[in-house]
Amino acid sequence: MRSTSSSVETSATLFADACSVIPGGVNSPVRAFSSVGGTPRFITAAHGCRLTDADGNTYVDLVCSWGPMILGHAHPAVVEAVQQVAADGLSFGAPTPAESELAREIVDRVGPVERVRLVNSGTEATMSALRLARGYTGRPKIVKFSGCYHGHSDALLADAGSGVATLGLPSSPGVTGAAAADTIVLPYNDVTAVEEAFAKFGDQIACVITEAAPGNMGTVAPQPGFNAALRRITAEHGALLISDEVMTGFRVSRSGWYGLDPVDADLFTFGKVMSGGLPAAAFGGRAEVMERLAPLGPVYQAGTLSGNPVAMAAGLATLRAADDAAYATLDANADRLHTLLTEALTAAGVAHRVQRAGNMLSVFFTDTPVTDFASARASQTWRYPAFFHALLDAGVYPPPSAFETWFVSTALDDEAFDRIAAALPGAARAAAEATPA
Ligand SMILES: *Cc1c(COP(=O)(O)O)cnc(C)c1O
Repeated sequence: MRSTSSSVETSATLFADACSVIPGGVNSPVRAFSSVGGTPRFITAAHGCRLTDADGNTYVDLVCSWGPMILGHAHPAVVEAVQQVAADGLSFGAPTPAESELAREIVDRVGPVERVRLVNSGTEATMSALRLARGYTGRPKIVKFSGCYHGHSDALLADAGSGVATLGLPSSPGVTGAAAADTIVLPYNDVTAVEEAFAKFGDQIACVITEAAPGNMGTVAPQPGFNAALRRITAEHGALLISDEVMTGFRVSRSGWYGLDPVDADLFTFGKVMSGGLPAAAFGGRAEVMERLAPLGPVYQAGTLSGNPVAMAAGLATLRAADDAAYATLDANADRLHTLLTEALTAAGVAHRVQRAGNMLSVFFTDTPVTDFASARASQTWRYPAFFHALLDAGVYPPPSAFETWFVSTALDDEAFDRIAAALPGAARAAAEATPA
C-alpha cells in the first residue's frame, strides 16, 4: 500500500494561510516544526493509528496528540459517547452527574487522591495546584526541576537552565522577575541539590513540583528512589509534594506513574489521557488539602467550562476502555517499537539511547545515559531533523522535536509496524550521515 505521496503542497498553502491570521501559523509552538524544519502537515482526519493530511498522505502516528490518544483516533466507543452527550446540550454552567463519575474513576485509580477538581488544561491544573500549595502552607517559594514542563503559567516557566539552588529567572519575555523570583530551579535527579535548597529556604518552600516521570525533555525516568526522596524531604520541612502526572497519568498504567512507583504525593495533576482528546484536566489529592479550595475554603479557583459534559463523556469512555489488557498492549507496542529503533540505529552505527519510562520512550543520539536536562542537551540533537524527516517521508510521524516523548497507542497493528520497520533503516542512516548545522 502507498505509505505517502510526495506532495505536501496543500499543507504548504494552508500553513501560509494560517501564518496570515495565527502567529507562526499554529496554536501551540512545537506544531510549527521549527526545530526540524519543513512543512507542518495539516491533518484532516485520523482513525486508529493513522493520520491523514490535507494532501491525502497517511502516517503511522507516534505522537498521539502528545499523549492523550491511547486507544487510537476516533475510537468507536469514545466517538459514540461524545455524539450521544452532545445531542443533549454542550454546557450548562451547573453540576452534572458525569463530573462525579470521572472524579470517582480518578479517585479509584490513584490511591492518595481523595478529592478531584476538574479544569480545562494541564496548565490550569498545575497552576491551581501551586496556588493551593501556597495557600495551604502560607509559604511563597516553589521548587521545580530543569527540563520539566508543567504548562505555561508564569511561575512554572522559570529558566530551565539555572544551576543548583539558584533563584529562577524569567525564561520568557512577559514573565516578570516577581512572578519567577519565588521559583527555585534545580537539576533533575539530584537529591543533594534538593537537600541543599531545603537547608537554605526550607521554611519558605510551599511545594516541590515534579513530572512523575519526565517526558518533556525527551523521556528521562526518575532514578530509583528519587521520587521517594522528594517525598521524604518535603515532609521533613512541611512542604507539599506535587506529582505532575499530566503526561504519565492513565498512560503508563491504570494508575499512571503512581502505579509503577507508588509515592504518595500530596497533590497530583492530570490531563491528556483523562479527557480522551477533548479539553479537560484535573488536580486532586488529600481531602484535607483539597478542601481549602473555594467554595469550602479561601483558595479561589473556577472555570466557566470546567467539567464540560462532552469532555467528561470522552474521558469516561476512554478510561473505561483503558483496562488491564489495554495497558498490556501499550507496553507490548512500546517494546516492539523500542526493539525496531535499537536494531536500525545499531545497524547504522550511530550512537544512541532509546530511553523508557513505562510505555513512553524517546531517542537520544548519545552513548551516555541521559539523566537530566544538561545531559539531554549535550546529546547530538542535530541528528534528529534528518531522522525525523526520513521517517515522515516514509509515512511515519514521530514527534517533531528531539526533546519530546514518542507515544504509542493500542491501535498500532502489524501493517503499521511493517511500515515503521521499513522506514527505520533509511532514517537511521540519515541520522548517522547528518552533520552539525
Ligand atoms: C502537557 C503537560 C502539561 C500541560 O498541559 P496542557 O494541557 O498542554 O496545558 C503539564 N504538565 C505535563 C507533565 C505535561 O506533559
